Amino acid sequence: MAHNITLIPGDGVGPEISLATRRVLDATGAGINWELAYAGADAREQLGELLPKATLKSIRKNKVAIKGPVTTPVGAGFRSVNVALRKELDLYACLRPCKIYPGAPTQFSDVDIIVVRENTEDLYSGIEFEAGKAETAKLRKLVAEATGDKVSEDSAVSLKVISESASRRIVKFAFEYARANKRKKVTAGHKANIMKFSDGLFLNTAREVAKEYNDIEFEDRIVDNLCMQLVRRPQQFDVLVLPNLYGDLVSDLCAGLVGGLGLAPGANLGDEIAVFEATHGSAPKYRGQNRVNPMSMMLSGVMMLKHLGEVKAADKLEKAIAQVIAEGKNVTYDMKASGAVGTSQVADAVIKKLEGIK
Ligand code: NAD
Repeated sequence: MAHNITLIPGDGVGPEISLATRRVLDATGAGINWELAYAGADAREQLGELLPKATLKSIRKNKVAIKGPVTTPVGAGFRSVNVALRKELDLYACLRPCKIYPGAPTQFSDVDIIVVRENTEDLYSGIEFEAGKAETAKLRKLVAEATGDKVSEDSAVSLKVISESASRRIVKFAFEYARANKRKKVTAGHKANIMKFSDGLFLNTAREVAKEYNDIEFEDRIVDNLCMQLVRRPQQFDVLVLPNLYGDLVSDLCAGLVGGLGLAPGANLGDEIAVFEATHGSAPKYRGQNRVNPMSMMLSGVMMLKHLGEVKAADKLEKAIAQVIAEGKNVTYDMKASGAVGTSQVADAVIKKLEGIK
């Protein structure tokens, strides 16, 4: 049966890695009908909307999408289209597997960590108060009245929102994932020693949920210590579950453990809809140069095939990518210092390997 999939090329290096990914997914023979849709600055230029209604409609209809990265201006300008997409479609879980493929540029071995990141709240809730604004003065007054604490007049404030319901949902997701994938341990990352109410709520909820899963070990780590232990002895970790911001930071850290952002796939999952995308961003300085590694998006494609039930095609594609990594001939600049190839050549090499896998 053919699958209707929404493809959002994104911007920066997005269109190049999306094309490479589309080519290898087509070569698996999984039978995908692509529906192109747009998001980000390019979409605003061409269609007048950052996150066009047509894009949301296409994803809601097809239920599965794969997207290239989208640029978000730093410090000012429009808010993140990625965050808007996740909130709009209630893609509450971000799943980021970090696994070492032999031949990948890393000094570690045997790392196979699943990072589960809460995707809808925390400091990403987008509730912010700009320095000097009337609403910020109101907030400062409220804080002074309610707590006796003083927020200085030149402050900007971003709210860290952690709810019991979202914490419960993401921790349950992590345990269900662990159970379904024969994982042994879930580790919750937090800073509940300092943020006793917000991170405290996340941790207490995680402890409660853990009691429902006696077959899976549970532990927690203060997030700074978790980062230190991840770079010292990553093999001790299995599934990590974290609130949004720590999850963002820790998943890039884990990508670094397994060879860099070019090898780190991801999925944003809700109860009905799934949007697959690489962990990395749009790397604008490499735009249009046919240089960056398409493997993180290709491996996101492997996750997508599994989600579609195309397990054979997924295994074949993962094997083909692993063979290209192990051979080390047709890999991009981030994987070897000299003699690297470009994005499209990696796709050619993966397709060639696919032809040789039964
Ligand atoms: P980035 O991930 O785009 O790039 C950081 C660096 O990592 C690059 O300069 C490059 O050296 C390396 N890198 C990234 N992807 C690579 C690849 N596939 N192959 C080889 N090297 C790679 O991070 P950034 O520069 O902080 O962000 C750029 C933009 O992307 C920002 O606007 C940010 O908001 C956005 N972003 C989007 C997403 C998304 O769409 N899901 C995710 C993260 C960041």
